Amino acid sequence: MPEIIPSPKVYDAIIVGSGAGGGMAAYVLTQAGAKCLMLEAGDWWDTAKQSTMMKWPYEAPHRGAATPEKPNGYFDPGYGGWHLPDEPYTNAPGSTWNWWRTRALGGRTNHYGRIMLRMGPYDFKPYSRDGKGFDWPISYEDLAPYYDKTEDLIGVFGSNHGLENTPNGKYLPPPKPRCNELMIQKACRKLGIPCVPMSRSILTRPIHGRPACHYCGQCGRSCATSSNFSSSTVLIPPAMATGKLEVRCNAMAREVLVGKDGLAAGISYIDKKTRREVQVRGKIVILAASNCETARLMLNSKSPSHPQGIGNAGGLVGRYLMDTVGVDRSSGFFPQMQNMPPHNEDGAGGEHFYMPWWNYQKQARNEMPFSRGFHIEFGGGLHMPGVGSFSHSERFLGGGYGAELKRGVRKIYGAFMGFSCRGEMIPNEDSYCEIDDKVVDAWGIPVLKFHFKFSQEEIQMAKYARETFDEIIRTAGGEPLHKFGPQDDWGMAKGGEIIHEVGAARMGSDPTKSVVNANCQAWDCKNLFITDGAPFVSNADKNPTHTILALAWRTSEYAADQVKKLNV
Ligand SMILES: Cc1cc2nc3c(=O)[nH]c(=O)nc-3n(C[C@H](O)[C@H](O)[C@H](O)COP(=O)(O)OP(=O)(O)OC[C@H]3O[C@@H](n4cnc5c(N)ncnc54)[C@H](O)[C@@H]3O)c2cc1C
Ligand code: SF4
Repeated sequence: MPEIIPSPKVYDAIIVGSGAGGGMAAYVLTQAGAKCLMLEAGDWWDTAKQSTMMKWPYEAPHRGAATPEKPNGYFDPGYGGWHLPDEPYTNAPGSTWNWWRTRALGGRTNHYGRIMLRMGPYDFKPYSRDGKGFDWPISYEDLAPYYDKTEDLIGVFGSNHGLENTPNGKYLPPPKPRCNELMIQKACRKLGIPCVPMSRSILTRPIHGRPACHYCGQCGRSCATSSNFSSSTVLIPPAMATGKLEVRCNAMAREVLVGKDGLAAGISYIDKKTRREVQVRGKIVILAASNCETARLMLNSKSPSHPQGIGNAGGLVGRYLMDTVGVDRSSGFFPQMQNMPPHNEDGAGGEHFYMPWWNYQKQARNEMPFSRGFHIEFGGGLHMPGVGSFSHSERFLGGGYGAELKRGVRKIYGAFMGFSCRGEMIPNEDSYCEIDDKVVDAWGIPVLKFHFKFSQEEIQMAKYARETFDEIIRTAGGEPLHKFGPQDDWGMAKGGEIIHEVGAARMGSDPTKSVVNANCQAWDCKNLFITDGAPFVSNADKNPTHTILALAWRTSEYAADQVKKLNV
């Protein structure tokens, strides 16, 4: 029998995970006066000290190229990837789900793209619009004040353009468009496609003691000046400054502990350094381990009161798993961009412009071959080159050596642009995760098995996206470079690869059809709350983190209030 170390102290709240959802829960609960313990499976991450923002590619092994351990390149912050040696997962036959995990304080917010799009009014009521999927029990109006507060707190640039189902926000001014973005905007105008400033959690003005971005373009390496958002730089430090937050890193939660009354009593976790099991107690438990990890934790928390796992009385934990529909690897060559005089267009990390979905009215009239929307992310131009930047050169220069090759590469570098679709997937019965009872991780905790399928809805969307990219590229005077077709589902990314997974413990107004209520409180355990993406009912084309943060704020405010009123 392994030794279990119990802790006599009772915290107001135990929070599992320190990413977007966990960081926001810690921020809101500590501001409300609650004493919190945060458990994080990864190591401590100190952005100011560990960011590699200012390093040159030649300072890294293989000039920073991606490796299996560092799939986003050597400079990617924190520790994460598609396969963590200690933490396997499995796929059911026919399923090819890929699962990115980050193990570091701040979770995936250390290296996310910082695209911050509000969901719109239609996105909360998709079933009412087209009879597919499900409606959320809350509306845009319920979440709008929390989008406002989140933008005020963390700083998001963007612009208010009044487009359909693309809400206005409380934005900092957007950065100027780059040359290639103006070129694409002009083509989009001809095609009737909106091309407007992107929204990103990057400061274009100093706020709350954080300086504005100095446009090094290296957000993907984490920002040493905290000019972009991550939970570890923007949410956790103020929560710790209240003196009410204790953080334990390398603490891998195994199970939600349950009392005789069926309520959550705390968490049992493995201290990864000592491999000992520790039990901590709290008045409430907040799960924010990320969508699938939260489902795993709930399914692994079996007790006499919750024989199928906590929150799982209706058998719905893990069901209706969704990712974003991703269509990448669509690039164009623009001859007019050759021989561009060298200039700095690094800007803020990522594109400054994007195309929000523009066909809502056509869909309402049933004139489209699929029901939901996508937006287009695009980029290119003269950024600091790295490994792979000249991958198209051979096709255009036909190879070469020495000075001639360098001249050729200089001529065409910056004349390529890539386009990506990020679209809404409709939840389906075939996509879910469950416990694989034959496999455990390095700490003996049963792992997840995935089942995942896209439907024709998503495949038709991918086809339309590819065709639209080609149209934009040609209208802008370019040549599309990639060819995909029905044989490869138009080059759609596999499930999980867009890293926008949500929905594994969905919210609802009927306890038999949902895991949590409209306040993200488990129906069958009233002192258990979820603040990551698991309660999502649909997965709009808008990247999920803004909604995770806003929802986490709303849930944590409610949870703090319930503790004060002694309702939980
Ligand atoms: C490269 C990349 C680019 C992205 N770009 C965007 C973007 O531009 N816009 C956008 O909206 N989203 C983007 N995303 C997705 C975004 O990062 C996530 O939506 C967001 O971080 C989810 O927040 P979370 O709190 O649910 O989970 P996470 O941020 O993953 O945090 C979960 C934390 O819980 C910890 N944890 C897990 N299990 C346990 C356990 N058992 N015990 C203790 N701790 C545990 C993890 O170690 C982790 O730190 C991107 C993701 C990646 C990887
Ligand atoms: S682009 Fe701006 S926000 Fe991003 S890392 Fe550089 S300075 Fe920081």
